[in-house]
Amino acid sequence: MHDIVLIPGDGIGPEITKAVTTILDATNVDINWIEAKAGEAVFNETGNPLPEETIDAVKKYRIALKGPLTTPVGAGFRSINVALRQKFNLYSNIRPAKSVPNVNSNFKNVDIVLFRENTQGLYIGKEHWVDKEETHAESIAVVTEDASRKIITAAFEYAKNNNRKKVTLVHKANILKLTTGLFLKVGKAVSKNYPEIEFEDLIVDNMAMQMVMNPQQFDVIVTTNLFGDILSDLASGLVGGLGVTGSANIGDDAAMFEAVHGSAPDIAGQNKANPIAMLFSSLMMLDYLGERKASERIRSAVYAVLLDHKDKCTMDIGGKGTTESFTNAVCSILND
Ligand code: NAD
Repeated sequence: MHDIVLIPGDGIGPEITKAVTTILDATNVDINWIEAKAGEAVFNETGNPLPEETIDAVKKYRIALKGPLTTPVGAGFRSINVALRQKFNLYSNIRPAKSVPNVNSNFKNVDIVLFRENTQGLYIGKEHWVDKEETHAESIAVVTEDASRKIITAAFEYAKNNNRKKVTLVHKANILKLTTGLFLKVGKAVSKNYPEIEFEDLIVDNMAMQMVMNPQQFDVIVTTNLFGDILSDLASGLVGGLGVTGSANIGDDAAMFEAVHGSAPDIAGQNKANPIAMLFSSLMMLDYLGERKASERIRSAVYAVLLDHKDKCTMDIGGKGTTESFTNAVCSILND
């Protein structure tokens, strides 16, 4: 049996995590869900967006499936997502963007796996005002050799173990010569250990254009925190949007799986949320647990619903259905 911490989260989080647990429970994988709270809803209840019990649960079980959490813009508490990633040193944020059948997109045969450094860069939260009047702000980015080596090695190891041909490192070393320059230097050194895998580096602005012009040229991508955040949303856009892209946050001894999208407050509680992204994140979790057969079975069931029962899918991907009708359609294929 697998003990997994389940954080339903805010906005559409409870609806999509319910859909996912229903689908996973329809397979023969034995999961004990340990429910824990985080985010805006628990902040409003208790004044703490990340309760100790939640941290303790993740510490104990070392694996979590997490719904999206709302983060106030500007003032208010800092991102709980970032806090969890940093607390458990979940340094690899893995965000695959793979074309799925019968979902509208301008691109076909996209199959990119993006590795984003998850604990450093501009996301360390070191910002301050320079003046009392708050007209001048500064932000600090951190890049270390050690953390760069870890994420870049994770990308190459993934490429090696999954028969991938190329790793593209994305940087801005022409301008940010020390921080992303260091990331590039480490990348060049690590690449020498993997002579069978092609290595290239691209400057982030060129990369954004190349991904839109010819995304099929990319295989595995590795980059720093902010560039990875932006480029992974771009990659989602290439395969039909945030509704169909999952992600994993993996460290040396803990892992947390979550969709790339946020809490979508505009559609929360309306049975409109697409659970596929959250479901694909949970399939990465099943793979991590060694439950590959179950994850393949669920993926095939999702593809079958997309191809043969599109009306049961949610509206964001051109269906006429709801969160519930999609969930029921997948479960009825699994139960067949
Ligand atoms: P969002 O991803 O929540 O929503 C962007 C758009 O995509 C909205 O129109 C929304 O309705 C739609 N959308 C998103 N997920 C969908 C789904 N599963 N099915 C159908 N449509 C979907 O981004 P946002 O509006 O910029 O952010 C809202 C909140 O989420 C913010 O507080 C933000 O900080 C937070 N956020 C959390 C995470 C996370 O927990 N990992 C990630 C991103 C944003």
